[in-house]
Amino acid sequence: MKQIRRAAVANRGEIACRIIRTLRRLGITSIALYSEADEKALHVLEADEAVCIGPAPPKESYVNIQQVLHALRDSGADAVHPGYGFLSERAAFAEAVEEEGILFLGPDPDVIRAMGEKTQARSSMENAGVPVVPGRTIKDDAVQAAEAVGYPVMLKASSGGGGIGMQCIRSREELEKSAASISRRAETFFGSGELYIEKYLETPRHIEVQIAGDGTGDCRAVGLRDCSVQRRHQKVIEEAPASVTGEVRQKLVRSAVQAGSALKYRSVGTVEFLVENDDVYFLEMNTRLQVEHPVTELTGGMDLVEWQIRIAEGAGLEALPVNEPSGDHAVEARLYAEDPKTFFPSPGTITKWELPEEEGIRIDAGFRNGDTITPHYDPMLAKICAYAPDRETACRNLLSYMNKVRVEGIKTNRTFLIQVLENPLFQQGNYDVTLTETILKEVQ
Ligand code: ADP
Repeated sequence: MKQIRRAAVANRGEIACRIIRTLRRLGITSIALYSEADEKALHVLEADEAVCIGPAPPKESYVNIQQVLHALRDSGADAVHPGYGFLSERAAFAEAVEEEGILFLGPDPDVIRAMGEKTQARSSMENAGVPVVPGRTIKDDAVQAAEAVGYPVMLKASSGGGGIGMQCIRSREELEKSAASISRRAETFFGSGELYIEKYLETPRHIEVQIAGDGTGDCRAVGLRDCSVQRRHQKVIEEAPASVTGEVRQKLVRSAVQAGSALKYRSVGTVEFLVENDDVYFLEMNTRLQVEHPVTELTGGMDLVEWQIRIAEGAGLEALPVNEPSGDHAVEARLYAEDPKTFFPSPGTITKWELPEEEGIRIDAGFRNGDTITPHYDPMLAKICAYAPDRETACRNLLSYMNKVRVEGIKTNRTFLIQVLENPLFQQGNYDVTLTETILKEVQ
C-alpha cells in the first residue's frame, strides 16, 4: 500500500481542473503540467504547483513523453493522472512512468496496449465470451472480407479513435473506391493503415458500462450510460442511467464484468457496446477516465477519480457503490468552441463567460472570461450536467440552463445542443445513433 501525497496531472482544460478538485479534497498536493500557451490557464491557477513542459504544439509538450517524464521527476510526483486524450492511452508512457517508480493512475500498460488495437481487443473479448459486432480482419482482400460479413459494412482503422478513419460502405464498388484513401488517412492519423470490417448496424444505440477493477480479477460494473446522441460518431449528449430492459442490462453488465475480469483490469475503464433489437455487441474498450464520467458519478454517488487513486494505492473494491442506480437521472451536454452550423472549430478569445452555479447543475469547465481558445487543442469548453429525480426533469432543466448560458467572443455549439434537447424524440428517450442526422436534415 503506497500513499499518494503528490500527484501530477498530465492534461489541461476541464479534465485537469476536475482532477485537481478531487486531489484537493483528498489532501493530495496537485502539480499541473502546462504548455507555454497555457501559462495562465485555469488548471495552472487551481493546482498547488505547476511545471512548464514546453511549447504549445502537443507533440512538444502534452504528448511528449520525455518532457512529461522530466517534469514528473523534477517535481517529485508519486503519481500521475493522464486524464483523457493526450498520453492517457499510450502504453509506452504508462510503462515509462512505472519504470520511474511513479504510479500511473490507470490500468496496466499491457492492457492499454491490447485494448488500443481494436482487432486485438475484439479477439480477446471473444475469448472472454463477450459478443462482438460480427466482423473480419482484412488479410489480403478487403472485398472478400466484406462479402463474408455482408453489406452494409463499417470499414474501420484498427488503431482508430475519435470517429476518424471509419466509413459505412454499402457496395463492392464503394469499397474499392474508398478503402485505399481510408487506409491512408488512418496511416496519417494513427501511424498504421491497417483496416478491418464490421457489420454495419443501421439503428443501434451506443450504451457503455463503467467498470472498476482492482488488478486481481475482481471487477465491478458501476453503471450504464447511453451515449447515442452523436454527430459524426462523436458523442454530443450522454445520460445515465441508460434506459434498457432488465434483460439487456444484465447482458451488458455480465459482458463488461467478464471483459474486465479476463483482463485483470486495474483502475476504472469503460466497455462500449452497440445495442440493437435487444442484442448486445462489444464495440471497444477505453482504458481511461471518459469525458462523460460525471453522469455516472451523479447517479451513482461516487467520485471516479478518487477510485482511480484508491485503487492505485492498493485498495479493494468493497466500498464501491455498484450497479444500483439511486433513481436519479443525469444528462450531460458538451459545449464546444465551434460553429453551430458548420461545426468548424472557432478559436479566439472569450469575452463573456456566463455559466452560473445552480442547484441540480454540475459544470466541469476549464476556462473563464478572457481565456484564449487556441487551435492547438480540443475545442471542448465545458460539460454541463443536469441531475434530477427523473429523466424528464433532468432534460427539462438542462434545456432551460442551456438557454441561459452566455459565452461570447467565440462561436459555440450551444444552439445545436438546444435543438437536440428540444427534439421530441430526444425528450421521449426514443432515439438511436442516427438522431442528430435526422435533426440536422429537418433543419436544412
Ligand atoms: P471510435 O473509437 O473512433 O470512437 P467506435 O468504434 O467507438 O469508434 O465507434 C463510434 C461510433 O460509431 C459508435 O458509437 C457508433 O455510433 C458508430 N459505429 C461504430 N461501429 C459501428 C457499426 N459496426 N455499425 C454502426 N455504427 C457503428
